[in-house]
Amino acid sequence: MELESKAPYVLIFPLPAQGHVNSMLNLAQLLSLSGINITSLNTDHNHNRLVFHTDILDRFACFLGFQFKSIPDGLLADHPRAGDRFMEMFFDSITLVTEPLFKEMMLSGQLNSATGQLVPCIITDGSLSFPIDVGNKLGILVIHFRTISACSFWAYFYIQDMIEAGKHPIRDTMVTTLEKEDMDYFIRSVPGKETFLRIRDLPSFCRARNTTDSNLQQVKNMTRQSPRAHALMLNSFEDLEGLVLSHIRTKCPKTYTIGPLHAFFKSKLESKTTLLQSVSPNSLFEVDKSCMVWLDAQPLKYVIYVSFGSITVMTKDELMEFWYGLVNSKKRFLWSIRPDLVTQKDGKDQIPLELFEGTKDRGYMVGWVPQEEVLAHQAIGGFLTHSGWNSTLESIVAEVPMICWPYFADQQTNSRFVSEVWKLGMDMKDVCDRVMVKKIVNHLMEKRREIFMKSATEMARLAKESVSEACKKRHYHYNLDHLIKDIRLM
Ligand code: UDP
Repeated sequence: MELESKAPYVLIFPLPAQGHVNSMLNLAQLLSLSGINITSLNTDHNHNRLVFHTDILDRFACFLGFQFKSIPDGLLADHPRAGDRFMEMFFDSITLVTEPLFKEMMLSGQLNSATGQLVPCIITDGSLSFPIDVGNKLGILVIHFRTISACSFWAYFYIQDMIEAGKHPIRDTMVTTLEKEDMDYFIRSVPGKETFLRIRDLPSFCRARNTTDSNLQQVKNMTRQSPRAHALMLNSFEDLEGLVLSHIRTKCPKTYTIGPLHAFFKSKLESKTTLLQSVSPNSLFEVDKSCMVWLDAQPLKYVIYVSFGSITVMTKDELMEFWYGLVNSKKRFLWSIRPDLVTQKDGKDQIPLELFEGTKDRGYMVGWVPQEEVLAHQAIGGFLTHSGWNSTLESIVAEVPMICWPYFADQQTNSRFVSEVWKLGMDMKDVCDRVMVKKIVNHLMEKRREIFMKSATEMARLAKESVSEACKKRHYHYNLDHLIKDIRLM
């Protein structure tokens, strides 16, 4: 191992949301294991949650040259942090509060390495636009890491062109007046996606009332920043998204695929000390492991795991439709049900207690589970998911077919790829009734199981292969090892 003060140094800055923090911390650990000094910059709020819910400080103490720093996100500690409205507010607050503070911290040397090195390279979440301007001003290389799929990155990228070509699908149309046929209209203006993407499969921001919607502008603008970065990293792999990646490389030639990152991380840990092997998840929530005991008592491939991730919210009616559908399917289910999953207009949490009581014999419901462990359990036969990219990759690696109920952002696109391109499950976007839930659960777990399992087994094999030594040689120029070499040359 090099002397810490001589090792290369990278500042890592994730968007403060569970999926992003998770991927970025996995990356930070991988880079650290390669002898790179790291500062992981999180928001004060998330840093406190990580410290509270995990053994993060003890765990990282064994990584040489690794330090945590934190920065305010401008929101009160008890501000709600779920739902698409929250994300909108959140970006405003980041621009107003975090951006100037970040500049200040950079200039005053507060983000120098633990051994006092100046920052030569920032790996920033590509959803945060300002580090690239700061980097350019200070002569620091900035690498964008988008924690979304390549297919949704490309859809975000092409929104601009669609708008300019007058092909924005719902331009000037009130979303509330959209007919079913309008939503099922096939998009033909995105290279590589000609035949199977419908309006309803585009990132949710395209459903905005008009093309000046602030969320739509925001994702469009931030995605168009990536070609300005030194390189782009995506948590994906060539065998999964090769075609779309070749399109992305026409705009961002240095696009590294470093996924599935959690599988990469696990493969690295296998050769390390037991201290590192007992790694716990990078969780912002309190993990309830009691579900593992319940799972141990269930028959093989008999349980459907249900989770809508860390940001999705739904109405109480939607929650009840899912619950009735699951109960009526007669399958057993494990449901990760965050306390803030259901928010009515009055802002009160509305998960009815009788739901937990009435489910006892067939289902198990907890606030937050160790998801990777759950998906790898032999009792799990399917995953009802919101199609967040981390959840999708974790399901692929664990060989678990999916039912997709996307909530927002990239999830609408991911779910279409899961069902139509990769054939790894079914997409029930924009539908939520108990009859449909029951039907689709039975299809996934019984009637069409064999078909999905065939593709799931093959894709899991490719995913595991992509983090193996053999594959690193095949895609030499675009993998994690090459990225590390790239960083060392900076
Ligand atoms: N997750 C978890 N326990 C749960 C639910 C989710 O550990 O009960 C993790 C999951 O493994 C994934 C992350 O939370 O890594 C969610 O990220 P994703 O990109 O799927 O969705 P998001 O939360 O960003 O919408």
